[in-house]
Amino acid sequence: MPKKFIVVTGGVLSGIGKGIVAASISRLLIDCGIDVNVLKIDPYLNMDAGTMNPNQHGEVFVTDDGYEADLDLGHYERFTGKNMSRKNNLTAGQVYYSVITKERKGEYLGSTVQVVPHVTEEIKERIRSMEGELLVIEIGGTVGDIEGEVFLEAVRELSLELGQSNFLFIHTTFVPYLRTTNEFKTKPTQQSVQLLRRIGIHPNMIVVRTESPIDPASLDKLSLFAGVPRNMVINLYDTNNVYEIPEVLKEYDVHQKIARFLNMELSGKLNWSYPKVFKPIKIALVGKYLGTDDAYKSIIESIFLCGAEKPRVIDSELLEESSDPEEFLRGFDGIIIPGGFGKRGIEGKIKAITYAREKNIPILGICLGMQLMVIEYFRNVVGFEKANSTEFDPDTPYPVIDIMEEQKKVLNLGGTMRLGSQDMRILPNTKLWNMYGEISEEKERHRHRYEVNYDDFKDYFFLPSVNSENPESKLIVSAMSDFVEAIELKNHPFFVGVQFHPEYKSKVGRPHPVFTALVKAIEEKLK
Ligand code: GLN
Repeated sequence: MPKKFIVVTGGVLSGIGKGIVAASISRLLIDCGIDVNVLKIDPYLNMDAGTMNPNQHGEVFVTDDGYEADLDLGHYERFTGKNMSRKNNLTAGQVYYSVITKERKGEYLGSTVQVVPHVTEEIKERIRSMEGELLVIEIGGTVGDIEGEVFLEAVRELSLELGQSNFLFIHTTFVPYLRTTNEFKTKPTQQSVQLLRRIGIHPNMIVVRTESPIDPASLDKLSLFAGVPRNMVINLYDTNNVYEIPEVLKEYDVHQKIARFLNMELSGKLNWSYPKVFKPIKIALVGKYLGTDDAYKSIIESIFLCGAEKPRVIDSELLEESSDPEEFLRGFDGIIIPGGFGKRGIEGKIKAITYAREKNIPILGICLGMQLMVIEYFRNVVGFEKANSTEFDPDTPYPVIDIMEEQKKVLNLGGTMRLGSQDMRILPNTKLWNMYGEISEEKERHRHRYEVNYDDFKDYFFLPSVNSENPESKLIVSAMSDFVEAIELKNHPFFVGVQFHPEYKSKVGRPHPVFTALVKAIEEKLK
């Protein structure tokens, strides 16, 4: 059981970067020698994020152990450099499921099962079972949300049980700036602190998010009204680069302030390097979730961590309708086709692939993107016009992508895909082999139901072995497990498709080699 706890709550608005604050604090403390673990609490009733629409909730992040998590776990992995697992995320769905299962088994025999104490005890037990010396708990949503209250109550109770001096509550809020009157408005933050106090939690630190630097008088005011010492009120204003945040927090001495409060010894210092200048290359990410970049978060961050400008999301449905893909893709130096599900926008993505293949534009296809590269190749190079995935056309005469055998029996949609990390063989004399530094085995993370139908179409693929020359015209299989993991073309600057998700493994300072290679191929082409 952890000895010390930092609880990060959010106020006023969602989406103000609470996850980044929690991840940055975790990294700062890890580098100061503390054994930090994290727990993201999501108050929704889903068991995990696997069935949620990325437009509403951002991407689904997949951990090594095959858990479909909230995108915040991605921030945690990238910032802390540590791999997360299903233990690092707790949803209300999991909590209630467990309580109800226990009730049916008779574990509460005789009692009326209630939110307090049974549900709160379930939450506390999960928190107690975490490893690490210090646990950073981020509570999703905004204080005042009905769903979040039981979690706040549970951490409040736990802080009484384990000693309040072992708990540091950080409230992250947003202070808007009113242009008309030329002032920052602290009232929403004051009120959100009041909401927190009403539940019995008194914040020990306030992280004040603003769009531009706030005036000291507003911070004085917040300190007074919130009852938080002035040195524990910290202003984090917008930066173009979120990877600056650990450094900013360090400049504010946040690690020292935390250590003093929690009575911990620090050793070592922030060892953090991230790209600060960006190669001006333009990458189009042809996708269908357009509301927010969060839907493709890990891909976008992976490119950014390679020191290149973030990709721009292009609407695959508009591309599908257009007779001239060039209209959308002109001016881009590279293309990424991300993962996805369902038929919408598929033909637009295929058009982008044809364009990239014919015009020698570097292109990376991930999961669905790779499957579409295979389909495009069979349609336009092999000449099977109706080639498709059975996901989109169950009756296609050329099912080059087909549902996995074991998936045919699956009835439930939640948590039943091929998920998580598994070994693959990287085949020699391929571009992929070079990208990975000529190693022949690596674990990668997966999330799919369909795969290349290699058995029925093997004549059209080329499986390299150590001494053979790659044929010019075949689709080269560059990695295999019990299915095709990656494909590429020889006579193209970069035509690479991967069934796995490299984006989930990028860390700050260590972007996944597939992205580094894409950026390099683009740069070389531009020379
Ligand atoms: N829909 C495809 C499948 O299930 C691709 C999934 C994905 O891109 N993550 O195989």
